[in-house]
Amino acid sequence: MTINRTHDQRAGSWVASAQATACDFPIQNLPFGVFRRAGSSEHFRGGVAIGDQVLDVGAAASKGAFSGAALAAATACGRRTLNELLALGPAAWHALREALFDSLHANAGPAARDALASCLVPQREVEMALPTHIGNYTDFYTSIHHARNVGRVVRPDDPLTPNFQWMPIAYHGRASSVVVSGTPFHRPMGQAMPPGAKAPVYGACARLDFELEMGVWIGPGNPLGQPVPIAQAEAHVFGMCLLNDWSARDHQFWEMAPLGPFLGKNFCTSVSPWIVTLEALAPYRVPFERPAGDPLPLAYLDDPAVRAGGSLDVQLEVRLQSPVHRARSLAGDRLSATSFRHQYWTVAQMVAQHTVGGCNLQSGDLLGTGTISGPTPGEAGALVELSAGGTRAVPLQSSGEERRFLQDGDCVILRGWCERPGAARIGFGECRGEVLPAVES
Ligand code: CA
Repeated sequence: MTINRTHDQRAGSWVASAQATACDFPIQNLPFGVFRRAGSSEHFRGGVAIGDQVLDVGAAASKGAFSGAALAAATACGRRTLNELLALGPAAWHALREALFDSLHANAGPAARDALASCLVPQREVEMALPTHIGNYTDFYTSIHHARNVGRVVRPDDPLTPNFQWMPIAYHGRASSVVVSGTPFHRPMGQAMPPGAKAPVYGACARLDFELEMGVWIGPGNPLGQPVPIAQAEAHVFGMCLLNDWSARDHQFWEMAPLGPFLGKNFCTSVSPWIVTLEALAPYRVPFERPAGDPLPLAYLDDPAVRAGGSLDVQLEVRLQSPVHRARSLAGDRLSATSFRHQYWTVAQMVAQHTVGGCNLQSGDLLGTGTISGPTPGEAGALVELSAGGTRAVPLQSSGEERRFLQDGDCVILRGWCERPGAARIGFGECRGEVLPAVES
């Protein structure tokens, strides 16, 4: 994925809000989501964020704003989900990106402006839906720092499993409980085995946690039995979002041996509504590197392009806003900040591993990257790490509270953005979710 004119840092849009300082959605971003006017009976349909507006892409297509491959992609974007757009592949996505960039550019002609201006809807007036019908959701485990931090809680003498440095490991998750940002969820009920107890207890999760992750949205799928070679893996990826893999640690640690996570993970997974395309992320690629002495990937997980630029420098942060924060109109406290570049495995390696045995990915499928924890303690992407398994309190400075795990009413807010000299700053918006009390049964 090369840098092209749609990444030009100097480009501006005739949509004035796209130039606002720290705006997540300048003309260099153009992320895709599914929206409708809030409280309306309109159909949900695909749109593109620009400044504080949503461009109704299907409406713009029907006004004659696009032609050729861009028109076909824009028409697919106008459906109730983005599955059809995602199935079209990189050439169609690139054609639509260029057409959107030109039409929204400050130098666009009056005809293009007039056609698109009537297709803008303020973001504050819309509700967002999941971007695709998600057929399958798989959650990886690709941060070596997270694996070591959590491994110390479960297996203090041997925190890293022997497979971790040889392949991106994952479990098959539950697509039906993936929700869009802003959707609250109930604290789950389940079984846990308290330390030293002889029999498990049934009740509301006592160790509710978040996991800072990114989501990977699959573009064209692969036929059953035909693996995706690593050199072609990124052509099967449309883009990325923020993802919170809410986790019931007490339930999870009791149930996960030997078959892996089940109820500890399947009650809710939240995603941010906007998909930032791989093409928009091109300026923020960084080399995939391994510490000296670590094993190099096996040949089927190795590729010159991955080595040269397979990692992505996405800045990430986690905030917690408690009911006390909200009562005092406080934004909440930052619990963690890190970069996606520290992951031990890349997106291309995840796709290659997922399909190497012949498993078929389908358009609109979702992959989670696994918790993103950086190398230092303040970069841990889950409370179980920040509180060392609940043994030390994490202070919430601005409200004077502390947390070991999440309480009812807590709202966790993930944010992500990319910035570097010579490129525009682009953002992912936010992924927000609130913990509601358990429904006792
Ligand atoms: Ca996870």
